[in-house]
Amino acid sequence: MNRQGILIVVSGFSGAGKGTIMKELTNRHAQYALSVSATTRQPRPEEEEGVAYFFKTVPEFERMIEQEELIEYACYVSNYYGTPRRYVEERLAEGRDVILEIEIQGARKIKERFPDSVLLFVTTKDAKTLEERLTGRGTEEPQVIRQRLARAAQEAEGIEEYDYLVINDDLDDCVAQVHRIIESEHLRMSRRLELVNHIREDLQGLTKGE
Ligand code: 5GP
Repeated sequence: MNRQGILIVVSGFSGAGKGTIMKELTNRHAQYALSVSATTRQPRPEEEEGVAYFFKTVPEFERMIEQEELIEYACYVSNYYGTPRRYVEERLAEGRDVILEIEIQGARKIKERFPDSVLLFVTTKDAKTLEERLTGRGTEEPQVIRQRLARAAQEAEGIEEYDYLVINDDLDDCVAQVHRIIESEHLRMSRRLELVNHIREDLQGLTKGE
């Protein structure tokens, strides 16, 4: 019996380290497929096309919206970000667990369209640590850091809409925790009804004639 892939949404404040956690998770376990988003944001120096993101112009992105090539998209600090449909649908069909690392508006749209999806929110243990990480990363201008912190304050209002809260204190612990959450989700009764029916039919077969 094939295991169905789960659609996993991971959000978190900018600087909470969700990218690092997801990279480590996919390195350790082959079951996970990390979706690569499209964005109109400028690439950071270390970011490769097709690995970090598919970098698009605004008209290119708007064409993707029109052609329904995205399963969700949102505007975040003056740029578009969106999830290409094809990769997600193909990997899920193969039984892989697909991870979307997206912000809260996108997370809401995914939960609406895919009610079986699992939503995780990643945070640092406090706001101070978040600010230190954003500043220490050195990839953003102070003005953008302020905008990202303001956005974090807004996003904090929606945390309860997520199914799980993960605190990124120790990377190893955090990766193990996320893996355990997803493995447990696979055991949920609602995802195992095919197996349940199979067992019922087998039992009926065994007790026939008694
Ligand atoms: P960054 O510019 O730091 O790479 O990403 C900014 C925010 O956009 C992050 O919260 C990230 O999770 C989110 N994001 C990245 N890709 C997508 C996407 O495809 N859709 C949505 N809705 N948000 C995304």
